[in-house]
Amino acid sequence: MSGPGFASIDAREREYVAAALDEGTLMRYRMGLTEEQSFVYRFERAAEQELGARHCLAVNSGTSALLTSLVALGIGPGDEVIVPAYTFIASIAAIAYCGATPVLAEIDESLTLDPRDVERRITARTRAVMPVHMLGVGADMDRLTGLAQEYGLLVIEDVAQACGGSFKGRRLGTIGDMGAFSMNHFKVLTAGEGGFCLTDSLERYETAYAFHDHGFRPNRDGAVEADAMFGLNLRMPDLSGALALAQLEKLDVVLERTRSVNARLGEAIGEVPGARPRRLPDPEGHCATTLTYVFDQAAVARSVAQRLGTTTLIESGKHYYANMPQLAGLAKDRRKVSPLGSAAAHSGDRPPSYARGSMPRTDSILARSIALSTGMSDWYAGTAFGVALDSDADAVKAAAGAFHDAVERGARA
Ligand SMILES: *Cc1c(COP(=O)(O)O)cnc(C)c1O
Repeated sequence: MSGPGFASIDAREREYVAAALDEGTLMRYRMGLTEEQSFVYRFERAAEQELGARHCLAVNSGTSALLTSLVALGIGPGDEVIVPAYTFIASIAAIAYCGATPVLAEIDESLTLDPRDVERRITARTRAVMPVHMLGVGADMDRLTGLAQEYGLLVIEDVAQACGGSFKGRRLGTIGDMGAFSMNHFKVLTAGEGGFCLTDSLERYETAYAFHDHGFRPNRDGAVEADAMFGLNLRMPDLSGALALAQLEKLDVVLERTRSVNARLGEAIGEVPGARPRRLPDPEGHCATTLTYVFDQAAVARSVAQRLGTTTLIESGKHYYANMPQLAGLAKDRRKVSPLGSAAAHSGDRPPSYARGSMPRTDSILARSIALSTGMSDWYAGTAFGVALDSDADAVKAAAGAFHDAVERGARA
């Protein structure tokens, strides 16, 4: 079980890690030991180039990247942030830790934010929207940025599961005001653990930098004792930086591999009675780490998943709002579930509802969805069944056959 980046590790990662051990300080600051910049620094500049953003800041996880992005955008107590009811819990935790209020919105059959439902949930307190590009597929960024403009909202993209993907030719994570990425073991690219933020704004980059490094200026350049804010230490270690750079340099190769096996599996499966592929807002831009089907009937989907040794997406760990008991706590005793959150449990007149059943369309879609792995294999995310990057024609055919078999039996059961 891993992401496609881990499955693509080769001599390059070993070389860079060995070099980091030999030449560095194992942290992003080389402190005059060598003329060379650290791997973390080189990774950041390479990511700016490769993904097309003015500024990249490497951090130690995707969760840190989300928190840092929210802080850089000035989001805090009293603010509401709209987030999909289908996301990993880290997106919601980051909002809660800023003292802001997560407001859930429905997904549509793309399994990402439904722009129409987002619009319904905008209030006077809404400061930002957080599209989450789930299972390798970008949300409809045209409509979401359109809404943001119309209502004066900020956009933070959670790109943890979709590094390298794009929407209409622009890389995911560069379309909103900030993009937050993860380089955890299961993601498109991996440093074991790690993450990074992208932004085109120098001011936001400087705030993000300060937050992730004790209030210092970028690269501690011209730092003075009076530097502004209390930051934390969320810095990416340089061994991770070495891995991150080696992985970034093979982003195209990794995506070619996922797209190839994804297309081959999709072709081998063909039409599925009683189900259709998840909608892709931009079919050109998906990372192809999964091949996901939405069935007509939940009972059939559930039975198919069981036969394949996997789960429907509604059963996938802390990826679905009703599987997050913390949300109920947030409406009651905020301090218990987000110890730093200082705001009231809710900011508006009516507390947002987090109870099971409050997102009926998301409930229905996730109960009917099965994601087959085509590179991202993680039972906790519901992708235990599928093919691997190096699956040959026979293995792809066998997986397609097993899927059809399960669908046929599931429909009869
Ligand atoms: C993995 C993930 C995160 C958190 O990333 P970590 O590196 O594990 O902290 C955030 N959001 C989504 C959608 C994720 O899948």
